[in-house]
Amino acid sequence: MRAMVLRRPGERLAMEERPDPAPGPAQIRIRIEACGVCRTDLHVVDGELPDPKLPVVPGHEIVGRVEAVGEGVDFKLGARVGVAWLGHTDGTCSYCRSGRENLCDHPLFTGYTRDGGYATHTIAEAAFVFPLTDDLDPVATAPLLCAGLIGWRSLKMAGDGRTIGIYGFGAAAHIISQVCRWQGRRVFAFTRPGDVAGQAFARSMGAEWAGGSDDTPPAPLDAAILFAPVGALVPSALAAVRKGGRVVCGGIHMSDIPSLPYRLLWEERSVASVANLTRADGREFLALAPEAKVRTTTTPYPLDKANEALDDLRKGRLEGAAVITP
Ligand SMILES: [Zn+2]
Ligand SMILES: [Zn+2]
Repeated sequence: MRAMVLRRPGERLAMEERPDPAPGPAQIRIRIEACGVCRTDLHVVDGELPDPKLPVVPGHEIVGRVEAVGEGVDFKLGARVGVAWLGHTDGTCSYCRSGRENLCDHPLFTGYTRDGGYATHTIAEAAFVFPLTDDLDPVATAPLLCAGLIGWRSLKMAGDGRTIGIYGFGAAAHIISQVCRWQGRRVFAFTRPGDVAGQAFARSMGAEWAGGSDDTPPAPLDAAILFAPVGALVPSALAAVRKGGRVVCGGIHMSDIPSLPYRLLWEERSVASVANLTRADGREFLALAPEAKVRTTTTPYPLDKANEALDDLRKGRLEGAAVITP
């Protein structure tokens, strides 16, 4: 197999040839068809997340085919599956036992604390993969496995208000705004100030209004979701939500939140973060996405161009999602 490997945080990924891995008990080996590039991959590569497995193969939006199965696995060879961020839980901690496996005390995360999908092959635990149908397009589907799932969990946490503000219009936002429209909600999109192309893209994805993060939206928000990893947006979003409104931070890492006057939080406004996903979130969203007719906008990159895909994401040069194809 071939893989793009992070040896040390801050370095470029390097191509490695490795022997094909053998699946252990309860595991499967997947021949990868596509792997989406998530902003979390940048945080892993930049060393902004603690204690990665090193060296590590990044990537946690994997679509592929089952190529070999370990003992006790009844997946059919050739079946199409998806692999997401949550790669393993202990199943026994208080969070796992109370339906909150996203907060497990002893988890493993794909492309962070176990090897992921910037590769031709990977190993996954059979209990943590999602069955996918044969007819779908692997490149178009890959971004659903994190941008979609985490976006969905963020939207659920935002509540059932009608007017949703989305800050940072990348892969997750372009999926979730389509879901919001399907649910009959209004979407206001906030981009970097002056990002006219990003605002036009947001409108093409169903946003009723799009402007800079320093602009005032045409109506107060019932809730806001922050996909941009910018802590300074928290006070801005609190100022834009109505009484009782919630600001949901959807990313795993964010710059510091500046101090803010209490009056921005007053009147039962709240700030929450979304951490990881449960397998139930995944099943729910993967069933809902075709109903909502979610269409992803993707830019494919060959495996050996994974560094370029990360660069383009970092520089904000992408519309929608980058997807690596081995
Ligand atoms: Zn647990
Ligand atoms: Zn992700």
